[in-house]
Amino acid sequence: MNIKLNKPFAANSAVDEFDVRQMKKALNRLGYYQPYEKTGITGIPDADVFSALKSFQKDQGLQATGTARPGDETVSKLSSEAGKKKSGKYIWRAVGDNKVRDSHAELDGTVRDLADSPDPGEEFNCRCWAEFSTPEGLQQELISEVNDSTPKWMEEDFTNHFYNGNGQAITLSQTGYLGEIIEKAREVMFHRVEDQVADKMREIKSGKLVYTTENSYPRLVEVFYVFGGGTIRTKTEGMVTKDGDILSITATVEYEYYDVFTDPVSIREITPLVFSSNPDEAFDWYVKITDFGGTYYVITDRWKTRMLGSIKLTN
Ligand SMILES: [Zn+2]
Repeated sequence: MNIKLNKPFAANSAVDEFDVRQMKKALNRLGYYQPYEKTGITGIPDADVFSALKSFQKDQGLQATGTARPGDETVSKLSSEAGKKKSGKYIWRAVGDNKVRDSHAELDGTVRDLADSPDPGEEFNCRCWAEFSTPEGLQQELISEVNDSTPKWMEEDFTNHFYNGNGQAITLSQTGYLGEIIEKAREVMFHRVEDQVADKMREIKSGKLVYTTENSYPRLVEVFYVFGGGTIRTKTEGMVTKDGDILSITATVEYEYYDVFTDPVSIREITPLVFSSNPDEAFDWYVKITDFGGTYYVITDRWKTRMLGSIKLTN
């Protein structure tokens, strides 16, 4: 980028309209200047362009005057820095009136790279500009409180409950494992839910989003042997808004954990084989061990996250 000022550039002097455009465009490319949405980049010397210049000078170790003169150090530094910035994502913005050329109206709201051509503001009298808030994807933040009881249940506690609990359901939080299960779920499934919600967003584009999933997560077993084949259902509810090809969402995701404790330390499967190699005898043992009693019980719990973020409509 080669900025050539025609006149001194200062808030208190009669500036050149083309100078203002050049300065705004360079400062915009570097992320210092954002024009008013209704006007876009114009030759009008608004206060923001001078304060943007001041910030740029400060960051460059130049005297922060907010002014420049043809061919001075500020101008050459601004030219070289804007020229050096050759990559990075931005959103193309166009003024929403009927004077915008069709090709730029089409680019409005699209994610571009600084390497792409044309540049906003590059073509004759173009008022378009770059906005540097690019989509970063979807994120989830836990909004439920985790009140895990301590100490955590041990193996014998789960077994005890099998024999003495009369099948009464328990929660993860009662056993002290809710926090760990949530952490594990964050590792193995949160991103999957985000991907699925992103697909759903692209499908509906805007409006109310309701999306449910149901999956088994055998890998949660690493947390504790008891949690073998836990199922986690999710329900995402929120609103999707569309701006150009950027889709944004605010939603809550409800996670519901469900598991059944049926067989303490797999005693029924293992014991017959240990006691006998005769299948008939083994079956007898199986029946006897079943007679030891015990009632299966379910382990459940739920938690909520807030999902926020933006994605691109395409890709
Ligand atoms: Zn334009």
